[in-house]
Amino acid sequence: MLLFTPGPTPVPEKIRNSMSLPTIHHRTPEFEAIFSRTRELLFKLIGSDEIILLASTGTGAMESAVINLTSSRLLFVNAGKFGERFGKIAEAHKINFTELKYEWNSPTSVEDIIKEIDKDSSIDAVAIQISESSGGLRHPVEEIAKAIKQKNKNIMVIADAITAMGVEKIDISNIDAIIGGSQKAFMLPPGLAILGLSNSAIAKIGKGKGFYFNLYSEIKKQRTNTTAYTAATTLIIGLLAMLEEFDKIGFDEVYRRTALRSNAVISALSGIGLKIYPKTPSKAMTTIYHDKSPEIKKRLQKEFNVSVASGQDEMKDLMFRINNMGLIENNEIAWAINSIEVLLDRMGLRQFNGDANRIFTEIIMSLKS
Ligand SMILES: *Cc1c(COP(=O)(O)O)cnc(C)c1O
Repeated sequence: MLLFTPGPTPVPEKIRNSMSLPTIHHRTPEFEAIFSRTRELLFKLIGSDEIILLASTGTGAMESAVINLTSSRLLFVNAGKFGERFGKIAEAHKINFTELKYEWNSPTSVEDIIKEIDKDSSIDAVAIQISESSGGLRHPVEEIAKAIKQKNKNIMVIADAITAMGVEKIDISNIDAIIGGSQKAFMLPPGLAILGLSNSAIAKIGKGKGFYFNLYSEIKKQRTNTTAYTAATTLIIGLLAMLEEFDKIGFDEVYRRTALRSNAVISALSGIGLKIYPKTPSKAMTTIYHDKSPEIKKRLQKEFNVSVASGQDEMKDLMFRINNMGLIENNEIAWAINSIEVLLDRMGLRQFNGDANRIFTEIIMSLKS
């Protein structure tokens, strides 16, 4: 089965093998060396002042960022399930919040965010997805972060980059917390979260809040290449193997390939008449709006061995999402694109003429720019 869901993504053989060695103890020079090298490569990838690894899924890092960086009021953007989650976290911790809600295909704007900040001086943290995976939507986070900092540099900017980290180059100069997760572009099993922090964030964290997700305890330990609690040793070993792979290819080259692939898939699928759902698509995935999505998803799996993701909540039956993150083989994505075109023919929706494959090939092989 070709796993084409935008998380979890497939785990390459080399990475699986790196995680098949006997478990080592986390408080040993051997593991500390692995941890140290992993941090080094993460600093190179992300560029933040500090990096924290948490044994949790991405949501754990979202929770830790919200509780440690909000003192009076959290403003968050809800243009999908993951944005909505920031509000649920605030609610669970009885943190005051303001919600900015959008259709799942529509990005927020600098103006909307600044308007809220101007209205309410108690807002001291803003949380937003760089890529909102519910609709495959890209928010203009870098511009928003810059405008926020120009207004008030004490407002903490929390960016959920779970489907953006490792996908594209992110300008973190105005971002205080940037969140990643193992099962997306890093092509690892779920269970490890990555958190990049700015020096201003570290200052605000002080002695930290919460217990397991108290970032003060983790910062102190991880600076010495160990963790406050038992490290997710196996996943960190896998992460190191993946980062070494990215580094060998070159991070910029990984971004270039991802962008090219995203362009090729979007062009191929819109070229056969399918509707791209988000107004500003994220490079992490391609989201197609289609009222026959459940049948398409089911038959892609059954007839072509291709597993794509459905929508979520009220959009569950109206879209399907195809992963574009990580080191995806062109022949595999070509198979997925071809399968979709053949399936539309089998469903009697559009006569097959090979356009999807032609468009995909022309772009991916740079026959046309
Ligand atoms: C996958 C994802 C998450 C985190 O989900 P977990 O199940 O906790 O790993 C958060 N935000 C976005 C945008 C995601 O794609």
